[in-house]
Amino acid sequence: MRETKVKKPRGVARVVEGKCVACGERCVSACPIDGIQMNGAGELQSVDQEKCIGCVKCVKVCAVGALEMFYTPEQLEQLKLWEAQNQGEVALDPEEQALRKKLAAYKGVWVFVEQYAGEVAKVSWELLGSGRQLADTLGVELSAVIIGHQVEELKHEAYAYGADAAILMDAAVYKDYRTEPFTEALCYLIDKHKPEIILMGATGQGRDLAGSVATVVGTGLTADCTGLAIDAKGNLAQTRPAFGGNIMATIMCDHFRPQMSTVRPQVMPIAEYIPGRKGKLIREEFAPAEENILVKVLEVLTDKGSGDEVDIAGAEIIVSGGRGMMNKENFTILQELADELGAVVGASRSAVDAGWKPHSRQVGQTGKTVRPKIYIACGISGAIQHLVGMQDSDVIIAINRDSEAPIFQVATYGIVGDLFQVVPALTRKIRELKSKNGRKPLSAA
Ligand SMILES: Cc1cc2nc3c(=O)[nH]c(=O)nc-3n(C[C@H](O)[C@H](O)[C@H](O)COP(=O)(O)OP(=O)(O)OC[C@H]3O[C@@H](n4cnc5c(N)ncnc54)[C@H](O)[C@@H]3O)c2cc1C
Repeated sequence: MRETKVKKPRGVARVVEGKCVACGERCVSACPIDGIQMNGAGELQSVDQEKCIGCVKCVKVCAVGALEMFYTPEQLEQLKLWEAQNQGEVALDPEEQALRKKLAAYKGVWVFVEQYAGEVAKVSWELLGSGRQLADTLGVELSAVIIGHQVEELKHEAYAYGADAAILMDAAVYKDYRTEPFTEALCYLIDKHKPEIILMGATGQGRDLAGSVATVVGTGLTADCTGLAIDAKGNLAQTRPAFGGNIMATIMCDHFRPQMSTVRPQVMPIAEYIPGRKGKLIREEFAPAEENILVKVLEVLTDKGSGDEVDIAGAEIIVSGGRGMMNKENFTILQELADELGAVVGASRSAVDAGWKPHSRQVGQTGKTVRPKIYIACGISGAIQHLVGMQDSDVIIAINRDSEAPIFQVATYGIVGDLFQVVPALTRKIRELKSKNGRKPLSAA
């Protein structure tokens, strides 16, 4: 007797609660029958079970498993029979097969170690911490990519901060950073070793190099990420603020490799430093010829000695002033408070634009990202562009005379009042407490 051919049951798609990351309605775009509803926050609400034709497109496109196929008990039985009849034939469609093959060729997580004359930008060590977590989740190696001249010694620090390997390109042509030779070098390495993820600092150098490399190798780049994770399919989920910081978007690059992200300094916690930790050195000899490089570095000018050598990005306590300070001279009261606390003085963009503080002190989207233990915002309204630069501070104290100011939404402690009364009162109180305890004021910053 001939076996009756069982038809594959179609089932219907349904929502898996708590998984949607509001990626930007990729499932809605994939659905051919307009059967997916979202809520006001851009998250999955429901799938219209009457309309669903079981095409599985939404399930396939969702990177975080927020949609699944549902089958009735009868359909499940039918599915089992179908699978039994079609054993070995349940193959992926050729497009999916080709994609999987292409992606499988890429392995490992890389962190680009940014350095100036052998001095490493701290963000690189922060990224080795994030890179370590990603590599452990994927079960792959974490490598530090060091490009420069006479920089081999940096490998020890890279191992100590968690790298399994250091990929070293050491040649005179890499002495000073230039887009062209560094792009060529990194593209050569990518072509040879095929990493799946590359992380770089969202610094001047990192932004320049990442954009250039991503363009040449033809992959995606997500700038200024604030969160990095591995999704259920092993792809990198790159989260960053979007639409002026009003939503957090998770961006995927699931059809191309390597997946490239930049992250601003101070956003990720620094990796644990384990002195003496060992790793493997991979020395690469590739170096473009100097005569073929159009840009020549004649002189390197640093801002050291400019009179403003304070690095607000690394400060533990920051006292910041905004337009509410009214003028440059009034910043003296912030400096006095900062001196008592051993803090540095920062500023909002309005204060910087007014010429009250140099740009090196600006906190926010177009200034520095800071993550101090204490951030005191004085006369700062709390515009989103300011908040993105300081909202990860451990404790935020806001002083503002407008009780509705948005800064109070992120503040740990809010003082509604006139800063010209509150700030000097705070300074007096700290001095009083110190003199009671017999302690001297801390040095000025
Ligand atoms: C593309 C782009 C990038 C930007 N990048 C940045 C950035 O990096 N950093 C940044 O800060 N901004 C940035 N901005 C500007 C931002 O949008 C705001 O305009 C700016 O942060 C406002 O600065 P502020 O809070 O000092 O001034 P205001 O918004 O004018 O706020 C002043 C505050 O002081 C309070 N105040 C006044 N007098 C007193 C008093 N006596 N006592 C107590 N409180 C008082 C007021 O109630 C008010 O809340 C950017 C904007 C754009 C479009």
